Amino acid sequence: MTAPLREHALRRAQSEIFDLAIVGGGITGAGVAREASLRGLTAFLCEARDFASGTSSRSTRLIHGGLRYLRLGDVRLVRESLQERELLRHVMAPHLVQGLPFYFPIYRGDPDPLWLVRTGVALYGRLSGAAREDLELRLAPHDLLEAMPLLRRDGLRGGARYLDARTDDARLTLSVLRDASARGAVLLNYAPVRAFAREGDLHCLTCRDEESGETFAVRARRLLLAAGPWTDEVLGLLEDGQVPLVRCSAGTHLALRSGRLPLDAAWVMRGPDGRMMFAVPYGTESYIGTTDVLTEEPDGSTVPAVEAEYILAAADRTFPEAHLAEHDVIGAWRGVRPLARPGRSRSASRVSREDRLVEVREGMHVVVGGKLTAFRAMAERILDRIYPGSQSAGAAAASRSPLPGAQGEAITEDSWRQAARRAGVRAADLRARLGPYGDEAATVLQMGVGPGNLRFSLDRAILRFAVAEEFALHLVDVYRRRTDRLLFGGDFALQHLKADADEMGRLLGWSEVRREAEVQAVRRLEAEMLSWRAPHSDEILR
Ligand SMILES: Cc1cc2nc3c(=O)[nH]c(=O)nc-3n(C[C@H](O)[C@H](O)[C@H](O)COP(=O)(O)OP(=O)(O)OC[C@H]3O[C@@H](n4cnc5c(N)ncnc54)[C@H](O)[C@@H]3O)c2cc1C
Repeated sequence: MTAPLREHALRRAQSEIFDLAIVGGGITGAGVAREASLRGLTAFLCEARDFASGTSSRSTRLIHGGLRYLRLGDVRLVRESLQERELLRHVMAPHLVQGLPFYFPIYRGDPDPLWLVRTGVALYGRLSGAAREDLELRLAPHDLLEAMPLLRRDGLRGGARYLDARTDDARLTLSVLRDASARGAVLLNYAPVRAFAREGDLHCLTCRDEESGETFAVRARRLLLAAGPWTDEVLGLLEDGQVPLVRCSAGTHLALRSGRLPLDAAWVMRGPDGRMMFAVPYGTESYIGTTDVLTEEPDGSTVPAVEAEYILAAADRTFPEAHLAEHDVIGAWRGVRPLARPGRSRSASRVSREDRLVEVREGMHVVVGGKLTAFRAMAERILDRIYPGSQSAGAAAASRSPLPGAQGEAITEDSWRQAARRAGVRAADLRARLGPYGDEAATVLQMGVGPGNLRFSLDRAILRFAVAEEFALHLVDVYRRRTDRLLFGGDFALQHLKADADEMGRLLGWSEVRREAEVQAVRRLEAEMLSWRAPHSDEILR
């Protein structure tokens, strides 16, 4: 966010009385800020770090009903998520949410027999209204091996194929926030809430502007905590205390070097203990995960070696011919699920993903649980409870309307070709890089893509767009969340780090010392991401 825009947001934050203040800028807070604005309510949202820096940039990136939740009997949750999936894919964010075939191979000795998986997939297909060609219930071993020659043959009994969808979780969250902002919500990242107080009927938040170090006060009629895994920590700011509401469960993912696990579709893998995981294609790269481990740490971003080894073991069991090893991993991320704390103890995988809204004080609500996929439906439910009667037919329709990037005309093949010709690059390359910007790709291009080194010139334009339009304040925001260069960039990820720090510094008025600090912050995150890995011989020599 440019300095004048942040100044403006800070001024509004301190001078207005908002209908709703939201703590937490992940997908949950973002969805509620958008929904409130659509209903004509004034909304303020503060985020302690960068938007989407918590769980909402560290998920499996699936927009799905979750086949496995059917097994847990969560039919309502699955149906709602599937409806949201279709809305996102076809209307709200087709540039960010794309359908993806999933193969589910079954082996002798697997926890779920073949008939049960086929029944589950059939029901899943029916709940989502899947087209005939999107479902294949009776795949024989040779069909599966034809689709993926690296698949383990030994004990393969058959399987099924169904359709789900994949997204970029951080960009989806940012897109929802941008829509909220365009509709009048006041949003501030790097502004943690530090204290709560009451002023008559109003809720007062003391926030800190991490950019200037100054504190400021915000007043609102109602308050929503959407702090994900940090919920209990934030509730700890209340003077009279509060019983814990969340149970945290962490999950790791590993990004694989381009070409090491070439996939056209996602595949269900099983851990050595039979747990389900996924291998998901991502451009020419792919990623594998996830784990499900109870934790007490809300951030929990450090990947433990034991989790990385567990995932690699699952990939090795499923795709032995790929011979995947530690040094094939180019990126890693670990997120913490903010699950609603159950009444009695259950293992992490059994805890419901359903959202829960609790009014902990008068006019102060806390949301826990939920999924990325169902953020919009969840936001509707939350607003219906916090502001009953605020819904209107117009707001309900607007809630289902396109997000930024899908609000204009979709870019045609012809336009991609023409733009590529003008920029002196290949249309396929341009599309791969700018597809996630949807109809805003042209705006990104106008920010300075020219002939020469495509990677450099596109990265530069994307950086400028991130600063101007997507609230980026630090270099790491661009490298990790506005793009996923840090996760999937491999050997080229940090090639232009210093030049990018200089460009961002020029736009945001950074000193030389600050530029260097920004470079170091990206390097630190890169090192932390792979700190679980034993140094590879090339790296020792480097
Ligand atoms: C491993 C894993 C895989 C997942 N995969 C999927 C999937 O494939 N599909 C799916 O639909 N869902 C998935 N989920 C679930 C989904 O990612 C989460 O439900 C969702 O991202 C939670 O969003 P949130 O906004 O509630 O929390 P968060 O994204 O964590 O946001 C909470 C925010 O609150 C901020 N905050 C904390 N303290 C303060 C403070 N004092 N002041 C201001 N702000 C504060 C934090 O910085 C954080 O950004 C997955 C989750 C995990 C962990």
